[in-house]
Amino acid sequence: MSYTGPDFEPPQPRRSRLRRPLTVAVAALVPGALLGWGVYAAVGGPDDGDTGGGGSDRAGAVRTSASPSSDGPASEDGDAEKPVGSSPAPTSEAPSASRPPATGALKGKVVVIDPGHNPANFQHATEINRKVNVGTHWKECDTTGTATNAGWPEAKFTLDVAHRLRDLLEKQGATVKLTQDGDRSFGPCVDERARIGNEAKADAAISIHADGSGAGNRGFHVIMPGAVHDGAADTRAVVEPSAELGKRVAGSFVRVTGTAPSNYVGDGTGLVTRTDLGGLNLSTVPKVFIECGNMRDSTDAALLTSGSWRQKAAEGMSEGIVSFLRG
Ligand SMILES: [Zn+2]
Repeated sequence: MSYTGPDFEPPQPRRSRLRRPLTVAVAALVPGALLGWGVYAAVGGPDDGDTGGGGSDRAGAVRTSASPSSDGPASEDGDAEKPVGSSPAPTSEAPSASRPPATGALKGKVVVIDPGHNPANFQHATEINRKVNVGTHWKECDTTGTATNAGWPEAKFTLDVAHRLRDLLEKQGATVKLTQDGDRSFGPCVDERARIGNEAKADAAISIHADGSGAGNRGFHVIMPGAVHDGAADTRAVVEPSAELGKRVAGSFVRVTGTAPSNYVGDGTGLVTRTDLGGLNLSTVPKVFIECGNMRDSTDAALLTSGSWRQKAAEGMSEGIVSFLRG
């Protein structure tokens, strides 16, 4: 999200609310099914990660109307107000560098996790509004991210899920690096977020976000890089492996969380290709973004604010990444 305050409501290109019959059952959305689905380019969101209220209005086709898993909290209060430390998974551990050497199936593999935004970006408007070059154009260094209607910020969500994902991948033996771990006063800028993955020679990189779209817009989507060759950006070598990574992450995310793909972008596939995101344009390693849900929709927010759902979300991402890395 690109707005600068938690109360901003992004403009909503209203979509027609076609209520088509359920055509794809969530149970059927196994990775194999996703692999066969088409991917279309949704270009034009103003920010670096979120679709800003559904940059595409192709959502008329509500392919999936199945409800997400019903074990989340009934309201968006959920566990959002609880200290992060009350979550089942540890969330504030020592940096990866001090961890024991990896021995599992992913030994030797490097994964870079990019927790979108930064909880302190709100206090650094000047710094995060500085323009950086992302190959195709100049854009803000970073953005504040969105928040639930109750005020729980996306940046806290992304960092929590990143910690859970890091733990899961390290158990598989991967070497994991975070682009930020709540240890910076702002940012990093989107170009640096990409550079961290590049310099780590990551075998896979994932940027974690939650969207800030209109109420009624629900579900997750995975954003994959389109082919860009402009200025410092050259994604041509990573388009294909990133698409493979994205499909595997989306498939595992559906299966593990039971959450339906977005009903407002991606034509029901949960997959979107974009060429406007600096974090993808500047990546020279396989990389995807995931928008885990819409923080501005109360039903999605109830999931996003649930620690148990965030654990499932991390497990879904982890299984997709492990599948990609093991080939
Ligand atoms: Zn975001």
